Amino acid sequence: MPIINKLTTGFAHFRDKYFSEHQELYRRLVREGQKPTICMIACADSRVDPAIVLQADPGDIFAIRNVANMVPPYLSGQDVTYHGTSAALEFAVQYLGVKYIVVFGHAHCAGVKAMVNGQEGQAVAGHFVPAWTSIADKAYAMARAKNPTAQGEELIHCCERQAVLVSLENLMTFPFIKDKVEAGTLHIHGWYLDIAEGKLAQYDPATDTFVTMAA
Ligand SMILES: [Zn+2]
Repeated sequence: MPIINKLTTGFAHFRDKYFSEHQELYRRLVREGQKPTICMIACADSRVDPAIVLQADPGDIFAIRNVANMVPPYLSGQDVTYHGTSAALEFAVQYLGVKYIVVFGHAHCAGVKAMVNGQEGQAVAGHFVPAWTSIADKAYAMARAKNPTAQGEELIHCCERQAVLVSLENLMTFPFIKDKVEAGTLHIHGWYLDIAEGKLAQYDPATDTFVTMAA
């Protein structure tokens, strides 16, 4: 079980090095509780852990991870069971009072690829995945309209970026998010990580483009 051995060795290294060097930080986070100011919705993809990519410390990021970093639309009414992402957003905004929410999209996203396949008439395997990724169905039409000549990988990358915008739009359907954004006490952003190039871009609403933040 090489991966288990790798991780248990990793924990021993963390305990001896990082944990021992940051004991006061951990003690304070236990004593005072966590007070992250940012919530990130990232993909469950093993290559895009925001804490690693952004070199964050414990207590910095309230991370929500799911397939394709998607935010579902707010559902009112009685169906409040098992909405993991919505519950985590409510916890971040209403309990922790985060000041920022970032939808952290990325290139080469298998979840967005599944959505694209579905939109192009191909069967998407699974019981839960097709329903979940359909949250971003309209990102396909948005990408087509934005870049009519894009095909293959270029089209998928365009869909990945547009899917971030769909999630930003869906964030605003949550009344407790909309109210705070409009009051200026909560800010929402869309980021896009190109894992092959090691580049991070931020959505700029003024130009409707993703602008590189760090090369
Ligand atoms: Zn992904």
